[in-house]
Amino acid sequence: MCFICKRIEMIKNGVNPWFVAELETGYVVLGDNQHFRGYTLFLYKNHDKTELFDLEPSERAKFMEEMVLVSRAVKRAFGAEKMNCELLGNGDAHLHWHLFPRVPGDIENYGNNGRGPVWWYPMEKMYSDENRPTEAELEDMKCRLRAELENCRAGECV
Ligand SMILES: [Zn+2]
Repeated sequence: MCFICKRIEMIKNGVNPWFVAELETGYVVLGDNQHFRGYTLFLYKNHDKTELFDLEPSERAKFMEEMVLVSRAVKRAFGAEKMNCELLGNGDAHLHWHLFPRVPGDIENYGNNGRGPVWWYPMEKMYSDENRPTEAELEDMKCRLRAELENCRAGECV
């Protein structure tokens, strides 16, 4: 079972502390490490297809629409200047979006004088234990994001 399938099993068993919400095509979870505050993932429900182009068109359209909704909610919840939405799958091929709220200075002077993708920030800093939220911080972040997701799903956040 892949890492993402394991995390989804935890959600189904009610023991995933990062779980925010279930949508039609996937699960919204906060990232374990929060250097980029509000870093959220949107995990596709199934592992049977690992490329966007392999999904049925209607399923793909729904998955994309829901990702866009989540990214808007993340931006509103955490005050990003710009959202980065990435579907990579090099570590785990299981379809999942990385949704990074970006703010000026968040990669210090790495990259192109502090500009560029999150992946230009050193991995050991990005995944440092110091970036893991406390239980209280995590609860607060989940509440904020759930509230914005509800607003966006109700069409109130345009
Ligand atoms: Zn999987």
